[in-house]
Amino acid sequence: MREYQVALIRGDGIGPEIVDSAVTVLEAAAKKYGFSFRFTAYPAGGEAIDKTGEPLPQETVDGCLASDSVLLGAVGGPKWDTLPGHLRPERALLGLRSALGLYTNLRPAKLYPALSGACPLRPDIVAKGFDLLMVRELTGGIYFGDRGRREGKNGPEAWDTECYSVMEVERIARAAFDAARKRRRSVISIDKANVLETSRLWRETVHRVAAEYPDVQVEDMLVDNAAMQLVRNPSRFDVVVTSNMFGDILSDEASQITGSIGLLPSASLGGTKRGLYEPIHGSAPDIAGQNKANPLATILSAAMMLRYAFDEDEAAACIEAAVDRALQDGCRTADIAAPGAANVLSCTAMTEAVLARL
Ligand code: NAD
Repeated sequence: MREYQVALIRGDGIGPEIVDSAVTVLEAAAKKYGFSFRFTAYPAGGEAIDKTGEPLPQETVDGCLASDSVLLGAVGGPKWDTLPGHLRPERALLGLRSALGLYTNLRPAKLYPALSGACPLRPDIVAKGFDLLMVRELTGGIYFGDRGRREGKNGPEAWDTECYSVMEVERIARAAFDAARKRRRSVISIDKANVLETSRLWRETVHRVAAEYPDVQVEDMLVDNAAMQLVRNPSRFDVVVTSNMFGDILSDEASQITGSIGLLPSASLGGTKRGLYEPIHGSAPDIAGQNKANPLATILSAAMMLRYAFDEDEAAACIEAAVDRALQDGCRTADIAAPGAANVLSCTAMTEAVLARL
């Protein structure tokens, strides 16, 4: 029987509740499709600071590297907010990305028809629906370039630099084209090639890689136009590939237009099948320990793990369909329920609702 080793980082706040929900769903899917998991939990973030004095202990890095994949809840909370930068829980995320060599961030943004009332777009746009995948470069570009402060001709100034190598663009482009083959076979590459030299290199390189994928359509779009098209006509996007900073901004825009950020999963991938799968929301300290958290983003992250880390596409689709059906049947946790709605589900009840529809 196929057995997958998964490192679990439950983390802080609602992290433990939502990770435990996803594990229950993964185990049920594994039973149905004839594979199994070995889960091992490792501390990171606030939990690790309390136990070991540092946000990302070596034991956690080693454990993740020895696993086939990593499922993470969320880290952070007010208890650790006043620690110095290098000891903040968020350092664990940056440290893990770098230790696992994760340079691709995949963020689907899908409009669930059952929740379309929460979408902030016009009804005629909502009626067309959308289901896109944002592929963001994660370890290069201006966030990692040289920077500094200096004395300029107008007095003190600061500078940042954007640098992309052909190798970095090639590998993110391949990640996007590969992902498009698991979807509707269309890639829109977003840049600012009318102004930036890095964008011109980006564009040339994406087109060279595109030649290896004749079955996938490719189109370029300037980032300012992309920001408009995402709210005017989001249904035209399938896979979107872009740099670190443009992706940071556009993926938040894409998540907002779904109207239900609590439902959005993500995956961070590198050159191997091993990846880091986590919901895009944080640790929600305001509702931690109350069994109120919405577990769906973490359950959908677990489905992404099945698809991208283990090629268990059928089991992944089965979990996604169960989530769809639970929403269609009116199952709602507090964050997605209509104001004053009766019959709001707890985290465990929503998990049960998904399990019942697998
Ligand atoms: P947040 O996403 O944790 O919470 C924002 C709001 O959304 C809160 O009202 C919260 O209750 C609600 N919410 C979030 N997820 C929910 C869910 N699954 N079910 C129901 N409601 C949900 O963002 P924040 O409040 O800005 O940050 C809280 C902590 O999380 C901070 O310490 C922050 O640094 C950390 N954080 C961690 C990650 C991560 O681990 N990847 C990401 C973002 C924020």
